[in-house]
Amino acid sequence: MIMDPTDLSIISPVYNEAGNIELFLSRLLSILNSMQINHFEIILVDDASTDQSVPIIKKHLEMDSRIKLICFSRNFGQQSALFAGILKSRGTIIINMDSDLQHPVEEIPLMLSLFKKQNLDILFTSKKDKKGQTFFLRIFSGLFYKMMGFMTDCKIPLDASDFRIFNNKVKQFLLDFHEFHIYIPALLGLTGFKSDVYLYEVSQRFAGKSSFSLRSLFLLAVNALFSFTHIPVKISIFLGFLSLLISTGYTLFTIFKWLIYGVVIPGYITLILFILFFNSVILINLGLINEYVFRIFSLIQNRPNYIISEEYNIK
Ligand code: UDP
Ligand code: MG
Repeated sequence: MIMDPTDLSIISPVYNEAGNIELFLSRLLSILNSMQINHFEIILVDDASTDQSVPIIKKHLEMDSRIKLICFSRNFGQQSALFAGILKSRGTIIINMDSDLQHPVEEIPLMLSLFKKQNLDILFTSKKDKKGQTFFLRIFSGLFYKMMGFMTDCKIPLDASDFRIFNNKVKQFLLDFHEFHIYIPALLGLTGFKSDVYLYEVSQRFAGKSSFSLRSLFLLAVNALFSFTHIPVKISIFLGFLSLLISTGYTLFTIFKWLIYGVVIPGYITLILFILFFNSVILINLGLINEYVFRIFSLIQNRPNYIISEEYNIK
């Protein structure tokens, strides 16, 4: 497959991947060579690894200027690392993939040909099976993607991996989003461009261990809930109306009883329950408002999502 000059940018986040990075680069380079793609760049974004990842990558940078490195000043997370790489990329086609060999580089030729044949803007991928995921992670991630599908305008496939292809047109729009928390699959889904899903067999992590936990998935889900849906606002309005209905009903009931029996029952427990109920409704609503105010505040602060400390081979 021969492509035009500087066509392909492969962007991969790196966090403590010293045991994987050599093999990742050699497998990737051999695939790209076999496809006869001469003009490509591999952008590795180091998310402040504490192991030997950076020194190992630096050895490769000196030998091959197509390998590029961006180093973060501290750990900012995988999504920010991907975003930084996308921003610096020069290719007309962009591939995102992990550097732990879980995303098989051998799938790239087929994915690229599908991407071109179908004239796609985005090719998402999804795992064929969920090898290596715990039961809870599986249930929770299933729920998360179902929620995203039903309740938002984002067209993202079920269990979308951070292994994907998209073109420069999509990249330009992607960079227009100024988000509090970056979550690239949902942003890509929001663009609404022509997309398809490619199913692949996920490999086991070659070395090291995953940094993605149930906790990070939970935080991602909370962020998605606030950033991509209006569900919290709708729930709070619903709760407001529900409490209004209950309190109006109870007031009418009390007046009715008073009219019939002429006495007001000394309902101490009911009173306490009502106070607790309305207080919780008020607190939930305050919490929601606080979350939105905090997000607006963070956007106004306009802090960068990441800080780059060093760059190598980036022009
Ligand atoms: N990663 C990162 N920053 C982090 C955690 C992970 O850049 O704080 C990178 C990591 O090096 C890998 C990718 O993101 O290339 C996916 O991470 P991981 O394998 O830990 O997640 P999982 O595959 O289990 O979802
Ligand atoms: Mg992984």
